[in-house]
Amino acid sequence: MEELITRIQIDGQVLDEGVLKVDSFLTHQVDPQLMAKIGETFATAFKEQGITKVVTIEASGIAPAIFAAQSLRVPMIFARKSKSLTMNEELLSASVHSFTKQVTSQVSISRKFLTSQDKVLIIDDFLANGQAAKGLVELCQQAGSQVCGIGIVIEKSFQEGRQLLEELNLSVLSLARVATLSEGDVTFLKEESQ
Ligand code: 5GP
Repeated sequence: MEELITRIQIDGQVLDEGVLKVDSFLTHQVDPQLMAKIGETFATAFKEQGITKVVTIEASGIAPAIFAAQSLRVPMIFARKSKSLTMNEELLSASVHSFTKQVTSQVSISRKFLTSQDKVLIIDDFLANGQAAKGLVELCQQAGSQVCGIGIVIEKSFQEGRQLLEELNLSVLSLARVATLSEGDVTFLKEESQ
């Protein structure tokens, strides 16, 4: 997605250890116009799949996911990283190792929101080693829901996430594919056809 790539080139900051900071439009401050276009792009790509729910993980997956859900006219569910006192129903749970925080946490969704009738589009802000997306796939599997695809805003293609998900026979659409992050520079792989 050309506009996203341009925005990463202008506003993205390369941090140490392969981390890209995009807190001015995606992970902290959010650009709603850009998110709306991102959501629409995901919705267009998956519109023939009969998606019934969009699933993401808090916090930074929520912005692109809500716009994808709005375009598809289906609900969006975000998996929670800490259990709220109000989550007193039966839960679907999986453990996820965070690439950026280097901690493992339990992520949960109330069982009542996902059923075996659901066809799910998973959305996340970044794909690195694939642990967040894999955790979300596990939650869907526990509910008996079908995962129809995974939409990623920024894929770091030098990490193993895409390979891990493709080995699980999942289709991954990434709107920007980062080939390298070095010496402050971001280079991209050729855009996927959408
Ligand atoms: P994975 O589970 O694929 O290893 O990592 C994906 C998760 O880690 C995303 O949900 C995202 O929050 C975070 N993440 C991974 N790499 C980066 C990065 O380079 N920059 C930022 N801002 N977040 C990242």
